[in-house]
Amino acid sequence: MTAQPPPRRVDVLVVGAGPAGLATAARIAAAGAGRVEVLERETQAGGVPRHCAHGGFGTWTHPLTGPGYARLLTEAATRAGAVPRTGVTVLDWAGPRTLTTVGPQGPETIEARAVVLATGSRERPRAARLVPGTRPAGVYTTGELQQAVHLFGQSIGTRAVVVGAESVSYAAAGTVRAAGAEVVALVTDHPSAQADQLRVRVDQLRVRVDQLRVRADQFRVRAARLRHRVPLLTDTTVTELLGHGRLSGVRVRHRDGRTATLACDTVVFTGDFVAADELARQSAITLGTGPDTSRPGVFATGALLHPGQRARAARRAGTEAAGAVLKWLEAGE
Ligand SMILES: Cc1cc2nc3c(=O)[nH]c(=O)nc-3n(C[C@H](O)[C@H](O)[C@H](O)COP(=O)(O)OP(=O)(O)OC[C@H]3O[C@@H](n4cnc5c(N)ncnc54)[C@H](O)[C@@H]3O)c2cc1C
Repeated sequence: MTAQPPPRRVDVLVVGAGPAGLATAARIAAAGAGRVEVLERETQAGGVPRHCAHGGFGTWTHPLTGPGYARLLTEAATRAGAVPRTGVTVLDWAGPRTLTTVGPQGPETIEARAVVLATGSRERPRAARLVPGTRPAGVYTTGELQQAVHLFGQSIGTRAVVVGAESVSYAAAGTVRAAGAEVVALVTDHPSAQADQLRVRVDQLRVRVDQLRVRADQFRVRAARLRHRVPLLTDTTVTELLGHGRLSGVRVRHRDGRTATLACDTVVFTGDFVAADELARQSAITLGTGPDTSRPGVFATGALLHPGQRARAARRAGTEAAGAVLKWLEAGE
């Protein structure tokens, strides 16, 4: 038996190079906190915005697409002295602040003075929504669809049903169209589109400048609907997926009991975000609403804490989390 090599030591390990992780790393590195590494399992840093090939990122004066925003944040973190390492997946814990990873150079164990979990959130896929039926090809979440179309140039079929009516559902409809396919319908079991109600609730909590952004978001959603004339089926649930090999249709049921089959070869399950909190759960680390966790020296930020959070808010949360990490480091752990 060969003895395990001792863990490599760094000052701060950030898991996840999305807006939250990159912003955290940038501020910590800029403060001169030593070696700050950002581990990212994808081949490119930037998180979800990498595959959001539309506008709405950046600021009023400096509008950006998702990929442009991802590049900006990656460059800012690198310029500040942080080291993004792509193709590196964090697998598990080997100590309170020690992580096992696998990457292009093989497995590695890394110990840090502070660990920041910034692993984001994901949309619940078909299996988690317990939608019965066959197991055909052509079933996506918005994230999977955007990656297939915008990152890998894959063909996604010709007729798509989009499940959900939130902002992200309209983004999914836009991606379907960008891929040259037709949107058969948006289907939601709510009595109306969700984007407006959710945003209005957020309105009540935010300062004036955020209210303006929210209104712009609502406007974009409505404009998308009008521009594309997306048929919206409210009070309607997808009850079954049909087809062998490839999806051939989805069965839907209206609240009043009526049923119908929508012929389609693609279905996109959108929204309904859940935290990507596997690493925290593996080690029974309890997350709260702020950066501190139940384990000293382990912090959390971004959409991991607030699933589906907008990219700008995740970036802001990352910068705030960096403050908590710096205090921990200054206090001598
Ligand atoms: C499909 C979709 C469309 C969206 N569209 C918009 C939009 O148009 N505008 C907007 O403002 N917001 C949008 N959002 C929301 C926003 O982009 C995200 O919530 C935001 O990116 C959150 O930032 P984050 O850094 O917390 O997480 P993420 O951006 O999700 O980044 C987390 C990163 O962690 C990595 N990671 C996870 N686990 C590991 C591991 N074990 N090891 C290594 N790396 C790991 C992931 O690969 C990922 O890159 C969208 C979200 C989705 C899912």
